[in-house]
Amino acid sequence: MHCTPPYANVDYCAAAFCRIFRVYRDLAGQRANTGLSDAMYRMKRVGIPMTSRLTQTLILLGLVALLAGAICVGPALAEDLAMLAQDHSWLPWPEFVLPGHPLIPVVEGLLTGDWDKQPAWKLPMLVNGLQKDVEDCTITAYCSQCHDGGGRYTRWGSRTHRGICAADPRYWGPGSVIWIGAPVNEIVVVEDTGGAVKGPNRFDVCMEGNHEMCNVIGKRGATYVPLHRVPPKRRWGTKPAGWHPPIWAMPPDDVAVGG
Ligand SMILES: [Zn+2]
Repeated sequence: MHCTPPYANVDYCAAAFCRIFRVYRDLAGQRANTGLSDAMYRMKRVGIPMTSRLTQTLILLGLVALLAGAICVGPALAEDLAMLAQDHSWLPWPEFVLPGHPLIPVVEGLLTGDWDKQPAWKLPMLVNGLQKDVEDCTITAYCSQCHDGGGRYTRWGSRTHRGICAADPRYWGPGSVIWIGAPVNEIVVVEDTGGAVKGPNRFDVCMEGNHEMCNVIGKRGATYVPLHRVPPKRRWGTKPAGWHPPIWAMPPDDVAVGG
């Protein structure tokens, strides 16, 4: 009989069923000659020693424990995987994403890691960032321990802390968000300015608490992705209490590539 691909599967299943059926028929026939119970005969066939009732009981208990484990752990794992699949379906993957974009591993890391423990604004902003061009910049690093370091407070009135950077206020407003590539690999918020930080592609990354990194980074070229641009402001005022970057909407599935 000629088999087209869908019917080939049916044939395969039928053949497999026949094979299994034949094995069980043979098994039943041979078992009848040995006088063993069905279960014991199968154990003997697969090589499980039948030294005593105790061994059999222990094996049975082990199997019960394994089954109980599968019942308890199984659903949690399946739930995680289902959630992850659902998360990935938020992404118009891969049509939306610029090929080879440096944020792809960052988003994937967030989705497969503890993204639900991250601030709510982070994932949508990163996903939208997958469509933004990567740009070159020059970076330096600072902290309150640097001999020429800015004080303990930023231009925006916040305490200097990790996750912020200084930028030129003629190009970047307070609360702008950028992702900076290696060796920083961090999402930072523009909260500070600096006398030597001039130009649209110049950032001074705050490494508070890790002064060694200031020296390691020195002054070097890096890449960045502008995730959220706040227009430049003449007066920065004070960072509002509880402020966080805006929570962007996830991009729609049918969004056009580009931009
Ligand atoms: Zn430092």
